[in-house]
Amino acid sequence: MFEWLSYGLKPQDYIFRREFAFIFEDDAYLRYQSFKNEHEFRTQLSKSQPFKIDIGAVFNHEPRDHKKFTDFRAQERELVFDIDLTDYDIIRNCCEGANMCSKCWRWIPIAVKVLDFLLREHFGFKHLLWVFSGRRGIHCWVSDEVARKLNNEGRMAVAEYLSLISGENKIGVGRKNEPLHAMIEDAYDTIVSLDDFEKLVIEQGWFENESKWEPILKICDDLQTRDEINAQFSAINDDDAKGSLSLKRWRILKRRFDEKFRAKLEKSGEKLLPPPVPECKNFLKAFVLLYAYPRLDVNVSTGINHLLKSPFCIHPSTGNVAVPVNPKTIERFKISDVPRVDKLVTELKKVVKSSEDTDKENRKILYYKHTSLNHYIELFEAFVKNLRED
Ligand SMILES: [Zn+2]
Repeated sequence: MFEWLSYGLKPQDYIFRREFAFIFEDDAYLRYQSFKNEHEFRTQLSKSQPFKIDIGAVFNHEPRDHKKFTDFRAQERELVFDIDLTDYDIIRNCCEGANMCSKCWRWIPIAVKVLDFLLREHFGFKHLLWVFSGRRGIHCWVSDEVARKLNNEGRMAVAEYLSLISGENKIGVGRKNEPLHAMIEDAYDTIVSLDDFEKLVIEQGWFENESKWEPILKICDDLQTRDEINAQFSAINDDDAKGSLSLKRWRILKRRFDEKFRAKLEKSGEKLLPPPVPECKNFLKAFVLLYAYPRLDVNVSTGINHLLKSPFCIHPSTGNVAVPVNPKTIERFKISDVPRVDKLVTELKKVVKSSEDTDKENRKILYYKHTSLNHYIELFEAFVKNLRED
């Protein structure tokens, strides 16, 4: 953690001025903690035993002395993103509020793939640390120097570029025959290339029956096209496998509106209905993005001074460790596999017992290597190593 947050700079030049906040069981916040070295951090942590640790900004003075300086202000911090399933409640049919299940988790890998792509390809960021929040969301810490040095306006600009959906479930995609921004095309292509999207279509039952698909077809601005699709949808009844109605209807839309998919089918000699009229050319993209594009909590990203839970904290209500996640394989990430504090305690006891004869002082730090946490620490170490070598 110290190596990451030092970014290869001398402690007095950087990490001395980083704010840590300790949060206790009664929600009491102890802000503006700062540490001179790992040892001091470790000692204070053992002494205070906070329930949660938040990481804040790097200030112009040491945070613990903040009262001494009238010009005390935040200078740098990682650009952070927070995605939480509660922001999907309008389109989530399986759960709501604090509840979540494997069906609605599918929005998270989709969000990670889309944002990871856009942050790397459209902004050129390289050092992205994705961290499971411990319950029903994910955080991203963009740690490139240029991202850390962004001021609030810069953060706002990036967050606005990446925000497509506003609070009222509205989407900033031109519905008419307007050319679309490359960001919208790329986000759409990424989403429809993922298996998780078709699974979402099936599991959320968006096309299961007329009352479900009606609000979706309303996004289509051409009434005649809407009627045609409605008729096509109604003609499909044979639900030979559970959920296949939704999938078949989704594929009707894809065959009609997805230019790239149409080109592929035409190449292989398939006969297709004529392409959509200009008035509803962007209908499919508007639907896909409205129902699957990442819903960002923009406030978290825009403030340089925003506190965010540190990686490796234990989520107070689930006991899950907030572990780093590999965006390349996030579709295989399962919350049930995440190390939980009670399981870790059991694992550690076993390791300690089996190594009781050996030199304890030297081995203590490496005990985690024999627990289910090890894989995630290796992921984190790879991220820190890439930073170091850049
Ligand atoms: Zn759910």
